Amino acid sequence: MPKPLDAATKKQLAIRVNYYREMGIHDFYRRAVEDGPELTLRAVEGVPAAAGSATLPPIIQDKPAALKLIRADIGDCTRCRLHKGRTNLVFGVGNVNADLMFIGEGPGADEDAQGEPFVGRAGQLLNNMISAMGLKREDVYIANVVKCRPPGNRTPEKDECDTCSPFLMRQIEVIKPKVIVALGAVAAKNLLAMNDSMANLRGRWYDFKDSKLLVTYHPAYLLRDPRQKKEAWKDLQMAMKYLGLNPPKKSDEA
Ligand code: URA
Repeated sequence: MPKPLDAATKKQLAIRVNYYREMGIHDFYRRAVEDGPELTLRAVEGVPAAAGSATLPPIIQDKPAALKLIRADIGDCTRCRLHKGRTNLVFGVGNVNADLMFIGEGPGADEDAQGEPFVGRAGQLLNNMISAMGLKREDVYIANVVKCRPPGNRTPEKDECDTCSPFLMRQIEVIKPKVIVALGAVAAKNLLAMNDSMANLRGRWYDFKDSKLLVTYHPAYLLRDPRQKKEAWKDLQMAMKYLGLNPPKKSDEA
């Protein structure tokens, strides 16, 4: 029989369960801890502790704290084989209040070394795409489907994506961007749960949670086939129109 929980732990548990509910996670199970340590839920740094009132604190409204909690839940992750080759886990970066979120596939060598998404050559191109939209990298939020580098930059396997993507879903729930741009087929197929060609996936809006989602080419693909940049620009213009963004005037450009 699991030990009964004390009042303080119960309160922390209620806060956490409510937090997961707000994230759209409803299924939980309770694991018996027979001879293990007492079950205690430590407050995550930056997350409001249980208040004396009966109402639960709206943790999700404190976006940095909510993201911190997701990062803490990922922890020093060993849930899939990708952890074995990891130098740094690449969580995500950017403006927590961003209207626009880019989602890539997974970290490459530069990202693994620096712990930040899209900092290599593909990242440079993504930065240029963001500037062409009249925005700065700091204005948007950037994350990946998997948070650890696949060996040799191979495509992440389905089970690796399935293991990692619940954390991405929670990041999306917190950021609540108006527009999500899925970069490439891995991001598109995982987010949309559709197995279709890029040609069919591009060029239209999808409803995704509270956001609109569109699909464009991955910057690494555009580096290999720059002729497709024109097509990618069409996709970005759809996002710009929806967000009321104008491309910078020539004189605004550095
Ligand atoms: N490619 C991706 O999909 N993500 C990165 O962070 C870098 C390269």
